[in-house]
Amino acid sequence: LFVVIEGGDRVGKSTQVRALAAALELSGVDHVITHEPGGTPVGNTLRDLLLDPESDLDDRCEALLYAADKAQHVSRVVLPALAAGQTVVSDRYVGSMLAYQGAGRRLNVDDLKAIAGWATGGLRPDLTVILDIEPARAVARARNLDRLELAGADFHARVRDAFLVQAADDPDRYLVLPALVSVRTTAAKIRTAVGTLLGR
Ligand code: C5P
Repeated sequence: LFVVIEGGDRVGKSTQVRALAAALELSGVDHVITHEPGGTPVGNTLRDLLLDPESDLDDRCEALLYAADKAQHVSRVVLPALAAGQTVVSDRYVGSMLAYQGAGRRLNVDDLKAIAGWATGGLRPDLTVILDIEPARAVARARNLDRLELAGADFHARVRDAFLVQAADDPDRYLVLPALVSVRTTAAKIRTAVGTLLGR
């Protein structure tokens, strides 16, 4: 089973990923927790480049580096784990690329779908959880801002809308949860959805 947790910046993704990992552990479900950008040594090098406020990245170059990160991540981490029968939980995946580089940077979404599809060999998550929050509220949680978080409010509003559109286009594979309710309530909903898919 391949589960992805998505959402804008500072929505609490990593908290929910940790909560889901703890629940899977408790139920004895063999699992791997991973993330993008990063998740592999090559990916971590790409991540440093992508998030460095000093990087003068052209938008297309940025998109290709995210795609490169995905290719490495899928081939080295996600596919081997799925082949071994493990449940994979990834903090971000293709949805982030369509939202940030597509809606955010305004690159053509069909091009990005083709590039991301090629990079990942077309691997699709069984479930994508989208943690949804108004960008202004998320910024209020911010401390050290990276390159992307410094982008304007419009940018983050477009990113948010793009995630919601993805979910609306394919409701069976998406679960949209408001990020401002309690961490425990959100964690319980994610646990239930994943449990159902695992047949528990
Ligand atoms: O999920 P995490 O906060 O670690 O992501 C790191 C940064 O990368 C975030 O600021 C996010 O906005 C940015 N990002 C991006 N495009 C992607 C994935 C992540 O701009 N495709």
